[in-house]
Amino acid sequence: MIIKNFFTVDVEDWFQVENLKEVILVDDWEKNKLRVKNSTNRILKLLDKTNTKATFFILGWIAERVPDLVLEIYKRGHEVASHGYGHQLVYNLSKQEFTNDLKKSKDILENIINDRIYGYRAPSFSITEWSLDVLKEEGFLYDSSMFLVSGHDRYSKLNINLNGGGAIKELDNGIKEICISTNSVLGKKLPWGGGGYFRLIPYGIFKRGFKRSIRQNDGGVFYCHPWEIDADQPTVDNIRPSYRFRHYYGLEQTEKKLEGLLTDFKFGRIKDHIL
Ligand SMILES: [Zn+2]
Repeated sequence: MIIKNFFTVDVEDWFQVENLKEVILVDDWEKNKLRVKNSTNRILKLLDKTNTKATFFILGWIAERVPDLVLEIYKRGHEVASHGYGHQLVYNLSKQEFTNDLKKSKDILENIINDRIYGYRAPSFSITEWSLDVLKEEGFLYDSSMFLVSGHDRYSKLNINLNGGGAIKELDNGIKEICISTNSVLGKKLPWGGGGYFRLIPYGIFKRGFKRSIRQNDGGVFYCHPWEIDADQPTVDNIRPSYRFRHYYGLEQTEKKLEGLLTDFKFGRIKDHIL
């Protein structure tokens, strides 16, 4: 049986997230000690323990520095996919800049695992219409960058058709779209697929909503980041309170909650559904 629930991990380090971009410039990334290997290994252990295969969207910048981690993910039977190279928001890039970023990440990852990759996830879900065509041109088969929540000003402006129901939809250009889980409550689609919301909501409530979402959407798509279980990461003080809350809330409990999720639900790799 092929499982239509997908557990996905965006592999990047704590200092590369959007909420910290105001204080940690890209040029300064190099000055930080990498912590991603250790926290990703903890996630790999959880996956082994719960007998789960997952999809990892890996940042090219990270892959270049810890190729052994990418290979380890691949060797353990997980899917390696692209999170781009430099974690810049897609809608801030020109088509050429995006193409270069995408190609660079694809080359790095494919050279490390000596195998093809098929999927892409945009940094902070910043996908655009034109970038979906670039994915097609560059040989990608699917995208997983859409979070169709109510009241989200950006996605509602995307001029695209999502054909078909269920967890795997298809764009007019043939690229498959794997949307992050949402949960319809009182006519509104709430984000229900991981990230800060997962850390914020008590696990029992998340679980009920995720179950509901799987029923509503014929599958579930969950995402997390290695830094979300890294409670010992350096703390950055001079950021907006809302950003601080979003980034640091619940880091101590997340690993345990993830184990609960991986025990309560069965997940598979996205590519097994696409090829
Ligand atoms: Zn990211």
